[in-house]
Amino acid sequence: MSGVGKGVTSSSLAMVLQARGLAVTALKIDPYINVDAGTMNPTEHGECFVLRDGLETDQDMGNYERFLNVDLPAANYMTTGSIYQTVIAKERNLEYKGKNVQVVPDIPLEVISRIKKAGQLAAADVVIVEVGGTIGEYENILFLEAVRMMQSVQPDDVAVVMLSYLPVPGSIGEMKTKPTQHAARTLGSAGVRADFIIARSPIGVDDKRKEKISTFCNVRPEHVISAPDVESIYDIPINFEKDNLSALLCGVLHIPVQKPANLHQWKKFVTKSKNNKDEVRIAVIGKYFSSGDFVLSDVYISVLEAIKYSAYSLGLKPVIEYRSSLDFSDKKKLTELKKYDGVLVPGGFGSTGIDGKINVIEYVRKHKIPYFGICYGMQLAVLEYAQHIAKIKDASTEEINPKAKHLVIGVMPEQREKIANGDMGGTMRLGAWPAELKKGSKLAKAYKSTSIEERHRHRYEVNPEYIPQLSDAGLIFSGTSPDGRLMEAIELPETEHPFFLGVQYHPELQARPLAPHPLFTAFIKAAYENK
Ligand code: GLN
Repeated sequence: MSGVGKGVTSSSLAMVLQARGLAVTALKIDPYINVDAGTMNPTEHGECFVLRDGLETDQDMGNYERFLNVDLPAANYMTTGSIYQTVIAKERNLEYKGKNVQVVPDIPLEVISRIKKAGQLAAADVVIVEVGGTIGEYENILFLEAVRMMQSVQPDDVAVVMLSYLPVPGSIGEMKTKPTQHAARTLGSAGVRADFIIARSPIGVDDKRKEKISTFCNVRPEHVISAPDVESIYDIPINFEKDNLSALLCGVLHIPVQKPANLHQWKKFVTKSKNNKDEVRIAVIGKYFSSGDFVLSDVYISVLEAIKYSAYSLGLKPVIEYRSSLDFSDKKKLTELKKYDGVLVPGGFGSTGIDGKINVIEYVRKHKIPYFGICYGMQLAVLEYAQHIAKIKDASTEEINPKAKHLVIGVMPEQREKIANGDMGGTMRLGAWPAELKKGSKLAKAYKSTSIEERHRHRYEVNPEYIPQLSDAGLIFSGTSPDGRLMEAIELPETEHPFFLGVQYHPELQARPLAPHPLFTAFIKAAYENK
């Protein structure tokens, strides 16, 4: 089932193999008809993670990049929709040479060819493939068929790892292996044999249950790996190595093991993440925090992780609070912001909660609380400044009020036509774009460079017509596209505010545990100093 940790398990498996000196890449298969994750609602599907080359993917891709500390290409993500789209396009192009094109084997063959292609692109020794969904559901059966075909053609090159949840029902207090036995059987009925079972559970799996799983699921006892709940997801690779998992995996894959896994840097990072005591309090103001009675943090996972990495690297313990922007449409609530050392407004879409965000930005600007605005968080900071300082009264964004007199944030002309034709799927600026930074700006100082490249995902831009007016009013445009047309960042001078900065791109997508993002680090540092 979802939420058990397939993504972090796959990332951790990839990482321990990489720590052995192998070239590893990781690939995700999502069973949705959606061609990519760009059109999925974040409260249902979690964050949309954008790859360097612009593909909008599932948040697990972010986990892979963070654990492996590499950029992954579009070839490493596929959905049912994207596979069918390719197969149908090939058929139309006569590439099947008059054959019947069939669900089996042509869909699994396309899956296999993509897995191989991703491996070749990365010159990988090992490709970790995560099959989304749950064993036994219709949606992923064709992917299991691809696994079966690979396992039968190249048995020495494929290792199958089944991740299973072992509940400990509160009423009886005993760990139950039955669901795992059923899952192994269901997998078997798809013709696939598991080489490893990773047993997720609230507590560790004892030897007696390992024996039982081994006997009933046809897996060697040492291949049943206990994966209890952990304090931090970053403990998982370390725990896997305690069970010697990378060497066992290499055994099944017939890869000679030489060097032991080197987790030195990783362990240092994990130790820091647990031992830092000095707190820095950050409020993240968003709107996608709740689903029924539950609070979701997955929607902003990259932002949250980026804050953590930078705080850890500064020797600090981040205390992050999610606050709904809707709460702050009531201006009386704004004084609650005083308890935070820094405030971050992340990316977002649509008009819900916008008044609250603008109120927050006005408050932190006036009260000199460090502010970091990402994407929508930058656009709204520009609007706030336009309305209150540059006195452009009904300054708005085309996204909320397309009829407003002053569209300070608007769509670029080349996108307008596509939107008019209802082609919303192809109208965003996506993926990595270069930017030039103003010498001496806070931004350039943070990066220690004036040329950068960051990933984007947005439809609207600062309208160039208003730049002279906003600049005259004191807003600094500290980053632009190399041709100067697109505004990439804004800031206020240090004499005005300790840290007031917004970026049109998503720096969180490039923050990694072992390589914290310099802009987040600058923000957290300013927040801490402002305590
Ligand atoms: N909604 C804004 C746009 O489309 C910002 C997008 C975002 O924050 N990712 O431009």
